[in-house]
Amino acid sequence: MRLGMTVCDRNGRDVCVAGMVERARRRLKDTLLRCGKAFSFVYDPPGDNLIMDHPNHSHPLHLNPPGAPYKCNGCKELGFGPSYGCEICNYILHEECANVDRLAFHRFFPKSHFEFFEKAPGYRTRYCDACGKDVLGFVYHCSQTGFDLHPCCLKLKDSVCDKDGCVTLKLSQKVPRKCLKYKSRNVVNKVKGWSYVSCNEDNNSCYHVSCVKELILENWKRG
Ligand SMILES: [Zn+2]
Ligand SMILES: [Zn+2]
Ligand SMILES: [Zn+2]
Ligand SMILES: [Zn+2]
Repeated sequence: MRLGMTVCDRNGRDVCVAGMVERARRRLKDTLLRCGKAFSFVYDPPGDNLIMDHPNHSHPLHLNPPGAPYKCNGCKELGFGPSYGCEICNYILHEECANVDRLAFHRFFPKSHFEFFEKAPGYRTRYCDACGKDVLGFVYHCSQTGFDLHPCCLKLKDSVCDKDGCVTLKLSQKVPRKCLKYKSRNVVNKVKGWSYVSCNEDNNSCYHVSCVKELILENWKRG
């Protein structure tokens, strides 16, 4: 179908293909805007540890509540949730990167024993098996299964929901459908990663974990 063409619609009227494409594009954009606006992670109230000394930083770090997006100096990933920040310089860590466990587990990888590293071991570029992004700093790595997870991805919330609690997306180890944001099941190259999928039967939303983060960021920038 060429864009300049007209085709017959259900009612026998001539409609222009370019117009149809434009309307479909607009509908899609509306859906994305609605979804992006809706979702946010729900955070537990901050712990008691309001100020901490961190081995990677010479100044004390202060607990900040969830708020403006930031880039974590530990894992280099985007953050929205609670963080530990330095009031002397701009150093900031995800709460998950400030409070790491030496050993960790994730229910999606029951055979993996994750160990914390400040830098990915070995020489080849590693990527996070949850979000598909490169590992550029703090990481949990399992030397037996080879899986890698950013600390913030290891502790991803089981669900995200909209403000009214009408739409809930659940964390899934697979990407069962094409992601609504990138129209693809792969998030980068051949990597699928994890996704958030709708629990409502009449709603087949599915977003890569990294796409949910992008939607929240875009929504925050839009105000
Ligand atoms: Zn981090
Ligand atoms: Zn500092
Ligand atoms: Zn990740
Ligand atoms: Zn996606």
